[in-house]
Amino acid sequence: MTTVNGKIALITGASSGIGAATATRLAAAGVTVGLAARRTDRLDALKADIAERGGNALAIEMDVVEPASVEAGVRTLVDACGSIDILVNNAGLMPLSDIDQLKTDEWHRMVDVNVKGLLNTTAAVLPQMIRQHSGHIFNTSSIAGRKIFKGLSVYCATKHAVTAFSDGLRMEIGQKHNIRVTCIQPGAVATELYDQITDPGYRQQMDDLARQMTFLQSADIADTILFALQAPGHVNVAELFVLPTEQG
Ligand code: NDP
Repeated sequence: MTTVNGKIALITGASSGIGAATATRLAAAGVTVGLAARRTDRLDALKADIAERGGNALAIEMDVVEPASVEAGVRTLVDACGSIDILVNNAGLMPLSDIDQLKTDEWHRMVDVNVKGLLNTTAAVLPQMIRQHSGHIFNTSSIAGRKIFKGLSVYCATKHAVTAFSDGLRMEIGQKHNIRVTCIQPGAVATELYDQITDPGYRQQMDDLARQMTFLQSADIADTILFALQAPGHVNVAELFVLPTEQG
């Protein structure tokens, strides 16, 4: 089993949902967590909550779309803690709509955050992990990174990109640099993700879905991340495909 106590993590999208739950879970296991997102009030509140429970956290204002913001955030964490052992590439958004509605602003935003943002943080952290000759990168894809759903075409495209990139990254840096890569593919998780859906039909559809089944909680995903982290060093849990039991 790999000990996580004393390790340093950078978690993007830590201001809510899966990112916030992962930060709380890892901090409870002794990891110092760099909490990255744009809503600093949320990050400060989470940092205080983690400190109250005896954990260590730093709030790092970061827009993953902006390379300079990402690089500054990574520098802040390395200057404060000396290393980055874990990167949880989790920031993302999912506004749903039919393609013929041509909500191109939302398409571009998804590509910018879900794909380019993830590449930005990977590029900023990788040199540090390569220097350390160790690390563990988690990329949050989705069930939508494995199959296609109507209304989620662009989101599916971004999450398929995350799945593809995760596979390639693992092949290229696993053996060469001793860095593990885990692609997380959750089904429906009860978070604020659905609040960004501007199309009333799809909003209703997601509300109906939430009534039909018990969604996962963010803590369920956080637990699987800790499971993969604690696996012995020679074990790379390459994918975590985690669904609500009723999602099938
Ligand atoms: P939330 O909406 O709760 O969290 C999204 C996070 O992304 C927020 O912390 C937000 O922070 C952050 N974020 C968005 N844009 C940026 C940006 N430009 N720079 C930095 N951070 C940003 O949703 P979830 O917790 O559900 O989502 C987390 C990940 O899980 C996403 O990648 C999502 O696609 C994926 N996922 C979610 C599923 C679900 O059913 N909920 C299922 C499968 C995958 P802020 O706004 O403060 O910057």
